[in-house]
Amino acid sequence: MIDMKGVYKTFPNGVTALNGLDVQIEQGEFVYVVGPSGAGKSTFTKLIYREEKPSRGNVNVIDMNTSTMKERKVPMLRRQIGVVYQDFRLLPNLTVYENVAFALEVIEESKKNIKQRVMEVLDQVRLRNKARFLPDELSGGEQQRVSIARAIVNRPKILIADEPTGNLDPETSWEIMHILDEINAGGTTVLMATHSREIVNTIPRRVIAIEDGMVVRDEMRGNYGYDD
Ligand code: ADP
Ligand code: ADP
Repeated sequence: MIDMKGVYKTFPNGVTALNGLDVQIEQGEFVYVVGPSGAGKSTFTKLIYREEKPSRGNVNVIDMNTSTMKERKVPMLRRQIGVVYQDFRLLPNLTVYENVAFALEVIEESKKNIKQRVMEVLDQVRLRNKARFLPDELSGGEQQRVSIARAIVNRPKILIADEPTGNLDPETSWEIMHILDEINAGGTTVLMATHSREIVNTIPRRVIAIEDGMVVRDEMRGNYGYDD
């Protein structure tokens, strides 16, 4: 599903973010990505949805080579990948419903199908009763659940969550984990970059640790392994 071999990424300013990264992830896995700030975690995830291309090496995602693929195929790749950010990134002037529907409207679904699917995912994140609310009328945890709903509304094969609980209190973080778990149980591959030792050590799963742009640890039931 995700296959990277000997991947390097050097930015135009000369900073090398990835330094010979090797990673393979199978369909249906749930993977924590850990490591110090600046280690290359975000750059690694951006290669997956082709926000960035590698300077050297191969990045294959859902059987597509992201370096050689035609520009016009990129939207097809991105539709199969949902992304959730630490800071939610909802559109502030759109309701919860509209924020989620937006992703479907751009691929020209019928109104009826859109409504059915939006309400289905709002059910999944337990926000059906807040469909008319604006983002700033919601708690942080609720906003993150909207952003998860938006990320999965197209039924992506891969969900990338970049520190999804970074701005949330512990109790709310567990709700988010529960939802990510259910999404993974439905067959979606989940990659979660995190600094939460608490979460990684409480719900043990595969841990990929990145330092200085390389995988320094990859364990099927790993622990967090850092002191911060
Ligand atoms: P992490 O997510 O682990 O904190 P990043 O992948 O964001 O690490 O960053 C890895 C390194 O690459 C850092 O030194 C960062 O400053 C640098 N970097 C990230 N994005 C860019 C960019 N667009 N241009 C230049 N340097 C970047
Ligand atoms: P019910 O659960 O009672 O069947 P609906 O499914 O009709 O309710 O709608 C649930 C919520 O979604 C309501 O708050 C409604 O305003 C909102 N909603 C439904 N369709 C749209 C739409 N096209 N645009 C914006 N909001 C909508």
